[in-house]
Amino acid sequence: MYQYNESVKRRNLLTGLLTTVGTWAREAETTLRGRLLQGDLLNTPTGPVKLTGDEPTLGVIRDPRVIGLEMELVGEARGTDALEIGAIHKKALYAIKSGRRLFVTYWCDICSIRTYTPGQCWCCQEQTKLDLRERYD
Ligand SMILES: [Zn+2]
Repeated sequence: MYQYNESVKRRNLLTGLLTTVGTWAREAETTLRGRLLQGDLLNTPTGPVKLTGDEPTLGVIRDPRVIGLEMELVGEARGTDALEIGAIHKKALYAIKSGRRLFVTYWCDICSIRTYTPGQCWCCQEQTKLDLRERYD
């Protein structure tokens, strides 16, 4: 009985900590707009911001078809001039076209398969096409 209570107490403490971290993460969320530049940079009205992110996200921001587009990026500020873009599953990357916010996706015509980072289709190995669209799936 004593051990059971201890483990419950410990679990409650851990849950409390995780909740706190979650709150911080939400408060730290930042949305930036600007033109994507070569070299993992976003040219915002207040100056260039250095971008980081996970591998699929870096694949998108290094795609020559995406560089030069007006983008909206959601992530966490890293100091005053850097942004860590949210993980690819958080849908943190948008292209702005004619005032519309579009998801950055990639499409294989042959297999009708959608992916979210550039590269070969995992099915037929053909290069996927950039497909900016209002729906994510
Ligand atoms: Zn394919």
